[in-house]
Amino acid sequence: MGRIPLLLGALLILSGPATAGLMDLLESIEAPEIETEGPLLPPLPAEPGRGKNWVGTQTHNSDLPILVLAGHADSQKIAGSGTPGKAVDVGGAAPMQKGITDELYWNLLTAKQIVAEGRRQGLNMRFYDPGVRTIRNVEDPRTNWSTGARHAKEGGYALEIHYDAYAPHGIGPGIIPSVLYGFSVLDEALAEEFGGYPYDYRGMLGAPRKGISMLEIGQLEGVLEAGLRDSSQRQATLDRIAKRVVKALRRGLANSSMGGTVLLKGRIGEPVLGSGEEVRQ
Ligand SMILES: [Zn+2]
Repeated sequence: MGRIPLLLGALLILSGPATAGLMDLLESIEAPEIETEGPLLPPLPAEPGRGKNWVGTQTHNSDLPILVLAGHADSQKIAGSGTPGKAVDVGGAAPMQKGITDELYWNLLTAKQIVAEGRRQGLNMRFYDPGVRTIRNVEDPRTNWSTGARHAKEGGYALEIHYDAYAPHGIGPGIIPSVLYGFSVLDEALAEEFGGYPYDYRGMLGAPRKGISMLEIGQLEGVLEAGLRDSSQRQATLDRIAKRVVKALRRGLANSSMGGTVLLKGRIGEPVLGSGEEVRQ
C-alpha cells in the first residue's frame, strides 16, 4: 500500500502538456520493435538485380552442419511442383516416376549423392526428406522450408537443390543465396562454381528469406537431362555434379578458416535473367 497511489499521483503530475510526448515515445518504442524481432532481411536494391549483386563473406566453423534438401519434395500436385523437364514436356517421354515431376526425381537423387560425397570427404552433412509429397500448410514443421529454417536459425547452413526449367522458361545454373543471416562464403564458392543469381531474384524468394540457399544445377534439357535419363550415364552424371558441389563447399569452408577474405579466383558467372522462370517453378 502507498506505493501505487504515489506512482499514479506522479503520473498525473507528469500528464498535461507532457502527455502527447509520452504517448509518442511509447508508440515509437512499441511499433517497430515487433517488426524487428529476429534478423533483418537486406533491403531490396533500387533496381532489380540482373546478375550477382552480393558478396559472400560470412564465415563458418569447419564442422558446420550442412543440411541438404531436394527442392519441391513437399509440393507435388500443387503450385510450385518443379519443372517436368524438356524430355517429358516437349519430347513426350514418360516421367521418371509417376506422380512426381522429373525435377523432384533428380533433386532427390542429386541431393542424396551430394551428401554421400560430402560425408566421404569429411563434411558434416545430412539429407532431409519430408517423406510426404504434398504438404499444403507452409507452416507445417515437416516441410523443407520449416526444417531448413530451423537448421539455419541454429547456425547451420541449409542448401536446397533444384534443376531449372528448359529454355526459354528457365535461366540456368547458379546459386540463389540465403539472405537472412548475411551472405555466406559457401554461397560465394558455389557462385564461383555454378554462377550467382541476384540476391533479390524475383523479389527475394521464400527459401532465401528463411535462411535457405537454393542451388540451380542447370536446365533440365539437352546434354544434362540426357546424361541423367540415360541409365548408363546416370551415376557418372550425378557423381560429377556432387563432386562440383562438395568441392565448392570445401573451398568455402577453407576460406572460412582463413577469415573469410574471399580467396576465390576467377570471374563469377552471372546468369542473364530473361523473361522469367517457368511459371510452374
Ligand atoms: Zn525447382
